Amino acid sequence: MDKPILYYGISGRLSRKMDQYIQISGGEPLLMIEKPEVVEEYRDRKLFDRYEVVTVDEALSRYPEPVIWVTFSKAINTARMLGKRVDPLDVHFFEADLEYRPGCSFLGHFISYRASNFSPCCIVSKYPSVKAEGTVEERLDQWKSFETKLLDDIRNDRPNGCMNCPHLVYDFWHKTVKLDTVNFGSCQPGDVCNYKCVYCFAEKFLNDPAKDKEGLTTYEVIEQLSQMPEYNTAELKLNISNGEFTANKDCDEVMDILLRMPWKASFLTNGSIYREKFAEFLKTGRALKVQISLDAGTRETYHKVKGLDTFDKVIDNIKRYELKNVEGFVLKYIFLEGLNDNEADVDGFVDTAAEVGCRKMTISSNLFKPFTPEMRTLVRRMIKRAADAGIRLQRNMNYVTKEDAAFMIDIAKEFDNLG
Ligand code: SF4
Ligand code: SF4
Repeated sequence: MDKPILYYGISGRLSRKMDQYIQISGGEPLLMIEKPEVVEEYRDRKLFDRYEVVTVDEALSRYPEPVIWVTFSKAINTARMLGKRVDPLDVHFFEADLEYRPGCSFLGHFISYRASNFSPCCIVSKYPSVKAEGTVEERLDQWKSFETKLLDDIRNDRPNGCMNCPHLVYDFWHKTVKLDTVNFGSCQPGDVCNYKCVYCFAEKFLNDPAKDKEGLTTYEVIEQLSQMPEYNTAELKLNISNGEFTANKDCDEVMDILLRMPWKASFLTNGSIYREKFAEFLKTGRALKVQISLDAGTRETYHKVKGLDTFDKVIDNIKRYELKNVEGFVLKYIFLEGLNDNEADVDGFVDTAAEVGCRKMTISSNLFKPFTPEMRTLVRRMIKRAADAGIRLQRNMNYVTKEDAAFMIDIAKEFDNLG
């Protein structure tokens, strides 16, 4: 027997679209569901003199196993709420581009862009990279075909590259493959860095003329992207975390494009170079995140970790950039055994963060090495001191073991400063 059809949500477009919706859902709704305050407005009347308006509780007490069609275009919260009350596969959408299936926060809209290949995410090293060639437009078409097939395989439970990934979970995800994030996370031709951090795993690729012979530079990729009308949209985000972008010879040209286009952008930087055009971009309010790797709390240790005696200069730059006005301004500390795992650096780091107006920090370990017992004591000290200074610990921690991440989350919860 067919399940009863109910609609969720009274929107302005409903009167105009009701006939079309009825055709799509294969029948008229038996009633409308809304929030209690809207239901109150319809206490003595029906919508269009025809449809009773009731709460979810009331609707489910009358029809425990319905099919629910959501009329809103922004419907993720409604979808998740309904998915907990009925079979999520029975929740459908007229306007929202959503479906219930296995997915992750990258699939279908994210490209990790590299000189000769790409990946659908940037957090799982096991994911095979997909060979790509041609212009940026051709490569993005290759990405689109790849993602479309991958999602189709996932939907139909066919073997696919994501199938054993722990990040693949059932939820309401976007139905349509549409690029919204271009991530530059590994070395492109022309990438450089002015530092020599002891923990750097990219150093051997940076400043290497051999890698610069073929392929497009970051600037050339971004320039081609800016010429494609499809991506002239405020929906597009760039993650610039390859090498030290402020040391790149094309940095100003890249900033000119970012200033001209409506895009948002996130940056990883060592903060050692002040660039007027980057400062200008920060003022647009379109910088989603600026993460600066400080990794020390004293000048001496900074020199040992970074290879340059520029601790004071970085702090001056942070103040000049007015980063305290950037919502996603984060300072990073990577624990390094025998180098910065001491109280003076831990306390100095938090004090410096407070001094420059930073409200968020992230903690990592060297290449996923578990924290030593001494580090765990220091991590606790750092999180507590940060809480006292109004600094929150970022919830997303990619470069620590699962156990250490859980350990830090518990401490931050205890001190009420989990970001
Ligand atoms: S490998 Fe995992 S994180 Fe990467 S795209 Fe697939 S499901 Fe997402
Ligand atoms: S600043 Fe970043 S890219 Fe440069 S050496 Fe240090 S870790 Fe490597």
